[in-house]
Amino acid sequence: MLLLARMEKVIIVGSGCAGLTAAIYAARANLSPLVLEGRQPGGQLSTTTMVENFPGFPDGIDGPQLILNMHRQAEKFGARFSYAEATNIDLTNSLIRLEADDEWLETQALIIASGASARYLGLENEEKLIGHGLTSCATCDGAFYRNVPVCVIGGGDSAAEEALFLTRFASKVYLIHRRDQLRSSRIMADRVLNCEKIEPIWNTVVIRYLPDEKGEMSAVELRNVKTKEERILPVACVFVAIGHDPNTKAFAGKLETDPEGYLLVRQMVESKHPGVFIAGDVADRVYRQAVTAAGSGCAAAIEAERYLSGLAA
Ligand code: NAP
Repeated sequence: MLLLARMEKVIIVGSGCAGLTAAIYAARANLSPLVLEGRQPGGQLSTTTMVENFPGFPDGIDGPQLILNMHRQAEKFGARFSYAEATNIDLTNSLIRLEADDEWLETQALIIASGASARYLGLENEEKLIGHGLTSCATCDGAFYRNVPVCVIGGGDSAAEEALFLTRFASKVYLIHRRDQLRSSRIMADRVLNCEKIEPIWNTVVIRYLPDEKGEMSAVELRNVKTKEERILPVACVFVAIGHDPNTKAFAGKLETDPEGYLLVRQMVESKHPGVFIAGDVADRVYRQAVTAAGSGCAAAIEAERYLSGLAA
């Protein structure tokens, strides 16, 4: 259904670190930005635990708390928020049109900061098992699995962080990695490897989820990629931490992407379309840090403000 379009100065898609920083800057520039938060507000920081590398917090800060602070800061300066989810974009005219929850909005400038979502393995029964012993968020679901064995899949910082967090609850945390070495930062790798409750299972992949008769995860089937040996590992929950895919479905075919779907930017935050700026993990396959997302959110808002001043001149 096509309802009457509303005209905005700046719409920001996404409310993670990049979107909220853009919102703070755009709001302080008196642009009264509208932030479309989507169905899962807060981005990846809202599902993380302690953030120890965001400058200004020498003792670390809880990820969801950092997001709440940014949200409050943006609101204080006049940013407006909606849970609507952007699903389509129309760039055929000079005005930018965006479809969100069956309504078409018009905006003079758009900042896309829609982030990236957790990747899963693509195994049989995967969708059915999500929420039944299969998840990508230890902070959300870890506490449900007390005194039972669980496993984490992956070898990056997310996997290391999830595994360490889960040691608070689980009786045992298996870390299943397809190689024999973690790619996480040294400090996280050391913590994992020195933790008694974590048992790494190297050179191994999960080839099948094994639910019980109630449809709850009860075990996984593993294959050693070197020896090809297969075995069954009983676990009550599988935490998948194998990276992310950019959230670019709404913009497919309308803006340039690389082969993996990340939006392409020129000069840090500019898209090929005038007035459309891009920030954060939706375009960043290299750094993917909270602080780099915040930095690009800031740059996108400044560029949007300059663009709007140019239009008004
Ligand atoms: P990542 O660094 O891309 O690591 C993904 C891991 O999953 C890799 O170990 C990869 O194996 C493995 N993997 C990928 N596809 C797989 C598949 N199909 N089957 C099995 N394993 C698979 O992703 P991330 O850990 O989510 O981290 C993303 C970024 O966020 C990084 O820059 C990271 O530093 C940052 N981060 C930082 C913190 C922190 O500082 N506190 C916390 C979380 C994330 P290979 O190693 O073989 O490629």
